[in-house]
Amino acid sequence: TPRVFSGIQPSGNLHLGNYLGALKRFVDWQDRDVESIYCMVDLHAITVWQDPSNLRQATRELCAGFIAAGIDPEKSILINQSQVPEHAQLAWIFNCVARMGWMQRMTQFKDKAGKNAQNASLGLLAYPSLMAADILIYHATHVPVGEDQKQHLELTRDIATKFNHDYGVDFFPLTEPVIEGAATRVMSLRDGSKKMSKSDASDASRINMTDDAEAIAKKIRKAKTDPDALPSEAKGLEERPEARNLVNIYAALNEQSVDQVLADVGGKQFSEFKPMLVDLAVAKLAPISTEMARLMQHPDEIDKILTRGSERARAITAPILRQTYDIVGLIPPV
Ligand code: ATP
Ligand code: MG
Repeated sequence: TPRVFSGIQPSGNLHLGNYLGALKRFVDWQDRDVESIYCMVDLHAITVWQDPSNLRQATRELCAGFIAAGIDPEKSILINQSQVPEHAQLAWIFNCVARMGWMQRMTQFKDKAGKNAQNASLGLLAYPSLMAADILIYHATHVPVGEDQKQHLELTRDIATKFNHDYGVDFFPLTEPVIEGAATRVMSLRDGSKKMSKSDASDASRINMTDDAEAIAKKIRKAKTDPDALPSEAKGLEERPEARNLVNIYAALNEQSVDQVLADVGGKQFSEFKPMLVDLAVAKLAPISTEMARLMQHPDEIDKILTRGSERARAITAPILRQTYDIVGLIPPV
């Protein structure tokens, strides 16, 4: 059976892009005949400094987000990365397989390190190596992600290929990225050239999963647009990134294609379309945020789910790490 793995960083501000590009699609995968593992990648989050108590809170909130969005912790394995030590252990092996140049040309590193890359953490540079380990420690076959993670998944394949080649084995699979749907790259509401991100300083740039109806309405009303009416075909959105973004969001939330949406709303002004989007977004997101808030009242239940998940995960990861150590020539305990 296919094995699906994906992760989200508990870096706070879980947003609509994470929901449409990741969480909602994880739920679709769960309903197929697959084994699935979903991870709060806390070790990735600390590649930039996190306040410890915020990190704990964000990890629990993210776990609540997974469950509220429809991930069933019985059907899927829900874990936080740091509780399954084989992720970090395999990452070290991959640090010795991957090349520095591969890491330095990653666009996420360049974006997040900014102008003073010498001052970025070593972990931020090695991020894709840990991500490759997250995936390959399960021999995962499918990784649903947003468009921004495409380059990291190509690197995961490069690492698997080089490991297999260096040690003359056929051990790690070449994992398929799964980047599908109308909202694989949700853009900032303030700037159609930037993706919506947890780490964007402007709260108005994103719709948070914890925003109430009023906040959602205000952010959509203020979202940047152009003065033209909506076109009646997807082609008409090509040079209009902000308009395209809002239509993509509508399509993904309503589970329609962009052309289906435009067949209905083509010709309308934003003054008419935005309130439709507000109603749809509130209808789809409010039940999730309500359920998240309810789950967050029982943090010890969340911690138990993560503990149980990591026990199940380690039944998969421990044997794969042991085989990897054996391939590399590290003597395992007898
Ligand atoms: P950060 O700014 O801290 O990197 P992020 O918003 O990029 O946060 P991640 O935890 O890095 O979120 O990514 C989790 C998942 O959400 C990944 O699969 C990623 O591709 C997806 N994702 C992130 N942002 C978007 C977006 N704007 N549109 C669609 N998918 C997204
Ligand atoms: Mg990111």
